[in-house]
Amino acid sequence: MEVSERLFNKYNKVEDIRNASLEEIKDTIKDIGLYNNKAKWIKEIAEKWDYNKYCDEEYIRSLPGVGRKIANVYLIIVCNKNYIAVDTHVHRISNRIGLVKTKNPEETEMELYKVIPKEYYNKINFLFVLFGRNICKPINPKCNICKINKYCKYYKSLFKSR
Ligand code: SF4
Repeated sequence: MEVSERLFNKYNKVEDIRNASLEEIKDTIKDIGLYNNKAKWIKEIAEKWDYNKYCDEEYIRSLPGVGRKIANVYLIIVCNKNYIAVDTHVHRISNRIGLVKTKNPEETEMELYKVIPKEYYNKINFLFVLFGRNICKPINPKCNICKINKYCKYYKSLFKSR
C-alpha cells in the first residue's frame, strides 16, 4: 500500500493528524526516506492548517517542509494554478534536451516559463516524470527508442564525440 494511502486511511481529517502523536505519525510513514522530518512537517502543517487559506499562495508556500516543487504541484492540482513544477526528472530532461541550461530546479523553472507555451505549464511535471521513469532515465536513457531524439541536444552530442 502506498504510504500516502495508508496515512489518509488512518487520518481522515486534518484534525485527526492534529490529535495524533508524532511517534504515531512516524510509525505510519516509516518506510519512506526522511520519515522523521516528514512526520514532523505533517504534524506542524496540521497544527497550522487554516481551511480559509487553502489556495492562498503565500500561505501554502510558507508551510513547514513545503518547497517550491511541492507548493507548485499542490497549487496546480488543488487550486488549478498554472505553474511548472520542477523535480529531478523535469530538471534533468529539460537540460538534456537543451530546452534550458541550468544548475538547479529553481533556475530551470524560471527558464522553462520563457520557452514552454503557457498551456503546457501545468502538464510538464506529469509528462516528464513518466517520460523520465520510462525513457529518459537518469542512467542509461533509452535514446535509441526515444521519439524525440532528433531534437535532443544530448543525443546529438553522442555522435559528435565519436
Ligand atoms: S534522446 Fe535520450 S537524452 Fe534525449 S530526451 Fe530522448 S531519452 Fe532523453
